[in-house]
Amino acid sequence: MIFDCHTHLFLPGQVGGPTLAASRRNWGPKGDMLATPEQHEAAVAGLDGAIVLAFDAPAVGIDVPNSVVAEYVAGKPGLFGFASVDPNRPEAPRLLEEAIREYGLSGLKLGPIYQNFYPDDRRHFDFYAKADELKLPIMWHQGTSFVPEGYLDASRPAALDPIARAFPSLKMIIAHMGHPWVDECIAVVRKNTNMYMDLSALAGRPWQFYNALVSAMEYGVTHKILLGSDFPFFTAEQTIAKLWDINHLVEGTKMPRITDAIIEDIIHRNTPELLGLQA
Ligand SMILES: [Zn+2]
Repeated sequence: MIFDCHTHLFLPGQVGGPTLAASRRNWGPKGDMLATPEQHEAAVAGLDGAIVLAFDAPAVGIDVPNSVVAEYVAGKPGLFGFASVDPNRPEAPRLLEEAIREYGLSGLKLGPIYQNFYPDDRRHFDFYAKADELKLPIMWHQGTSFVPEGYLDASRPAALDPIARAFPSLKMIIAHMGHPWVDECIAVVRKNTNMYMDLSALAGRPWQFYNALVSAMEYGVTHKILLGSDFPFFTAEQTIAKLWDINHLVEGTKMPRITDAIIEDIIHRNTPELLGLQA
């Protein structure tokens, strides 16, 4: 099985405000973050499935509604939609339950650096309890971002450790292996049974990508790395090609190599089974 655990849909108008402005400043016209249903379908065509993320982040101008993701994944075998609710919203637990019951989504996407909340703040624990009760895995963007308005001090992977201890059966994934805090991410994922990490978008920084995998290998946690692309920024196909190419940086040296067995294992990870996603 080849399953992409991290993809986005961005329809026109769903990314605006501070995020669009920062993206255009950094990348010019290429910074218009767009991922239409047609583009998404083409990107996942050769795969066994993918997770498609909604995103409710008014603090930075992102609004990918649960209804849009639900409508897109409906009737597409292998595709699982993850809901998103800004934890700052009054009655966030109720909004999450409604989104799940109404739309049949399979998980929850959160990003403290985009939603501007502190994950270890006890005020949000009722919200995590609801996700736990509904058996929803949580995908966390728990790493840095280019958007100046986001809370960088809310985005360290270690901030999730109190949540993992309070809800040991709650499945959680740290996206992008918590970049740039890759080792901190590995530490959190290693000690908490139901935590995983995805390697999406890391291939854009080859040295960090190589070191992230070496570190995961040394800590013995490569079995908790999920394949993800962060489409539209990368495709699964590109990510897999980068994985197979990872050792080229250290060719001709005595530096550690990522073994073929580990690479195969990551590419063929059965993520739906690990996360308990229901078709
Ligand atoms: Zn992403």
